Amino acid sequence: MDILEATPEILSETLKKGGFPRFRAQQVCEWIFTKRVVELDKMSNLPAPLKAYLREQFTWQLPEVVHTLTSDDDGTTKLLLRSKDQRVFETVIMRYPKRTTICVSSEIGCKLACSFCQTGKLGFFRHLSAHEILAQFHLAQSILGDRPITHVVFMGMGEPFLNYDAVLRATNRLISPEGYGLSSRRVTVSTSGIPERIIDFSRDSTARLAISLHAARDEVRTSLMPINRKYPLATLKNALQVYQTATGQKLTIEYILIQNVNTSIADAKALVQFLQGLKAKVNLIPFNAHPGLAYERAEEPEILAFQQYLSTRSIPAPVRYSRGLTVSGGCGQLAAKTEAQLEETPARKNVVAS
Ligand code: SF4
Repeated sequence: MDILEATPEILSETLKKGGFPRFRAQQVCEWIFTKRVVELDKMSNLPAPLKAYLREQFTWQLPEVVHTLTSDDDGTTKLLLRSKDQRVFETVIMRYPKRTTICVSSEIGCKLACSFCQTGKLGFFRHLSAHEILAQFHLAQSILGDRPITHVVFMGMGEPFLNYDAVLRATNRLISPEGYGLSSRRVTVSTSGIPERIIDFSRDSTARLAISLHAARDEVRTSLMPINRKYPLATLKNALQVYQTATGQKLTIEYILIQNVNTSIADAKALVQFLQGLKAKVNLIPFNAHPGLAYERAEEPEILAFQQYLSTRSIPAPVRYSRGLTVSGGCGQLAAKTEAQLEETPARKNVVAS
């Protein structure tokens, strides 16, 4: 078993079987969950026989950090990681004055092929395991040193709800008091909208939910997000109502503003209608043009008119401008395929992390 898949109970049970006293399991948990250290060699208070036993019982290998790229303007760092099977995926660290957010990937590539998304262009390779998701947390933390990660957003590569079990294990570990102990308010899963999983999530997790909506008219949304054909807006809204009734939680709606695509007053009106009966705030994210994508960023007057339409109808709709050249808008615009490409063309992205 990979070490980051192991719950405190599994660790405790495994050490008990090996004849080690109970407090040793607590020490291992403290290293992993409190000190956020996952290298056995650094666990200085564990005796050598225990380390040898733990090495035998668990796999400790994390993905390799093959490259990091930090934006000069705001210190945002993108990590390019390589898995055991030589696939690359990305994690982003966003430094703010009072918090530090990481944006994690849940899959390598994505099968949903949203037309504005760089990850969608890659196609799908495979799901990440919970170990690989939590490894992103540890690798980012080791780069940050003493500065603790305070927020985690699942907005990197992939559709988290198509890798539901692993994402759920990872989020639950992040927010469990016996795990990393982050507040539920600080862990957000962003989905393009898989209705049955949204409902499952309302029962299975207290983490927050964000929806990559990007259009509130079916024909526009289908052109941007093919998943809308399978789950049109009415179906998605039903699921969100069930979610909200069950959890009482406010939703975050992500809406990328693309010139002449989804920014008309008719689009704003449709969005207001979609949000009727839902408690939500809308993050408006001016799209950043990128080679290979046919869309353009909405012009400033277009953005402001859209925002004003919402705010005059009492819908909070902050405009989230890009942070440097990094960090993704919606659930994943990460697409570095090779180290060289990462260096040449850092993906232009938008920030929506709460
Ligand atoms: S926006 Fe999200 S769901 Fe759509 S293709 Fe990109 S990663 Fe997948």
